[in-house]
Amino acid sequence: MKANEIRQKFVNFFQSKGHVEIKSAPVVPENDPTCLFTTAGMHPLVPYLQGARHPAGKRLTDYQKCIRTGDIDEVGDPVHLTFFEMLGNWSLGDYFKEEAIRFSFEFLTSKDYLNIPLNMLAVTVFAGDNDAPFDAEAYELWQTLGIPAGRIAKLGKKDNWWGPAGQTGPCGPDTEMFYWTGGGDAPAVFDPADRRWVEIWNDVFMQYNKTADGKYEPLSQKNVDTGMGLERVTAILQGKTSCYETEIFASIFAELDAVRNIGEAPQVRSASERIIADHLRAATFILGDGITPGKVDQPYVLRRLIRRAIREGRKLGIETEFTSRIARAVIGQFGQVYPELVNNQEQICDELDREEKQFAVTLEKGTREFEKLIERVPAHIQKKVISGKNAFFLYETYGFPIELTTEMAAEKGFEVDLKGFEEAYAKHQELSRQGAEQKFKGGLSDHSEDTAKLHSATHLLQAALRKVLGSHVEQKGSNITAERLRFDFSHEDKMTPEQIKEVEQLVNDAIAANAEIICEEMDVESAKNSGAMGLFEDRYAAKVKVYTMGKFSKEICGGPHAAKTGDLGKFKILKEESSSRGVRRIKAVLE
Ligand code: ATP
Ligand code: MG
Repeated sequence: MKANEIRQKFVNFFQSKGHVEIKSAPVVPENDPTCLFTTAGMHPLVPYLQGARHPAGKRLTDYQKCIRTGDIDEVGDPVHLTFFEMLGNWSLGDYFKEEAIRFSFEFLTSKDYLNIPLNMLAVTVFAGDNDAPFDAEAYELWQTLGIPAGRIAKLGKKDNWWGPAGQTGPCGPDTEMFYWTGGGDAPAVFDPADRRWVEIWNDVFMQYNKTADGKYEPLSQKNVDTGMGLERVTAILQGKTSCYETEIFASIFAELDAVRNIGEAPQVRSASERIIADHLRAATFILGDGITPGKVDQPYVLRRLIRRAIREGRKLGIETEFTSRIARAVIGQFGQVYPELVNNQEQICDELDREEKQFAVTLEKGTREFEKLIERVPAHIQKKVISGKNAFFLYETYGFPIELTTEMAAEKGFEVDLKGFEEAYAKHQELSRQGAEQKFKGGLSDHSEDTAKLHSATHLLQAALRKVLGSHVEQKGSNITAERLRFDFSHEDKMTPEQIKEVEQLVNDAIAANAEIICEEMDVESAKNSGAMGLFEDRYAAKVKVYTMGKFSKEICGGPHAAKTGDLGKFKILKEESSSRGVRRIKAVLE
């Protein structure tokens, strides 16, 4: 079974069980300042898991683009990718544990769906601790369905517990499903530490609320949240030992072979080939959602992915520009399912070309820097060494792979202090990991009041821009932190100071009018007819939320928002700049 078929079967299965299909959110969370990327299907749904009403109802299903930079060191192994698709189903206060497990079981084993033999499966359930009891219900259900006791492992919080997303909030036990990839008969007793058992699906049961004083109380609205990795499932169903051997990556590798003028495809793909395929696939999707390479946050992650792919390309002997060629293969493979890739194809490829050219220049500068280092060492010194610190400097500042430094050093009769390099590298990694964790720690659930206000201000801003610049203005992207809003919109020219003033004034007038911010749910047709702005191509079958702010603004949006425009304070535009061709970016604050 091909990935496209599995994706479709999953959605169809859950539709047949009363779920409504929703659209994949962008890989960059729109209104969540605490996370760089969407890491799971659950992520865009957090407000609804916390009790907000979802316009599409209580049973949802989707496939979601995910980025996990935390798994970057694992990339190259058979089952960890930086970009992957997660299939999911949700119950928002509707069905709970029994139905969720029955659904998962039926989809995995039914002849009409994945048809996985029972004897290839094993599961884990929550073992219980001081906070919450053993999940006997899940344990017994699996047994009723035919999973023998030996194939059910009981594990603690580290493995079988989700949440809360922040310090407090919904959380609960989960149950994970594993598939035997070790060949032959699967062992009668399931050892979760054995890597040949690969996790494919995770069902989370949100049934507790963690309070500020650390207690776990039963939750009034119980939710189910599940996630299944499409690439992993595709690989196991095809009897492949890695995601890279499936058709998902075939055209990407074929293009890489063409770049290298390799006639016959290798049996097994090397680590370099895998990293190039994974990273450029991830980069293509990130670019497709409007991010461009840069120095901080998502743009920096994007830059690192592209540059690492280029360096791996050099290792394979690629001296020509190749990243946009690979991107075109990615777009060819996924464009039907993710049309944003096709719509942004030229921009994606242009950005890659630009980044690749810029990196070539950086490499050249780095080479000059390298030569200075060499010259500094007096000729009479016997043992010539490039210190770990300097090697790391070349790596960090000029993107010099350590292998490249070592090679160039050897040509000049130098050694590189590799141990010192490793130390400098480890120290840096520790620092950047701390940085990343810091970002995550606030939790997915930081929909603070300030964020809500900035979100409302974004609606007013869009309405004002359309009044001042014209109705061609449309939202191209939005990102909100607790401190500021950032809004990307379609418009060719730089705004004049007068236009900026006028927009500010309009927004502040709308704030002064102190209109109530009203949320109504309606079907898409009525929303359209009401003149609301927003993304109509959303596949929310049933209903959408429309937020109205006086006569000024009417937009389809998930929320959350402030209660009245008067709550917002004073609106001020800090910056108006180019974001990419035909797209301007405004950064603004509320004072
Ligand atoms: P693992 O322990 O194998 O890293 P996980 O516990 O991090 O998995 P979850 O967070 O439960 O995984 O995500 C749900 C599903 O998404 C997993 O069962 C798996 O199929 C898939 N998945 C998770 N991480 C990756 C990844 N880096 N690449 C591909 N698929 C993944
Ligand atoms: Mg993981």
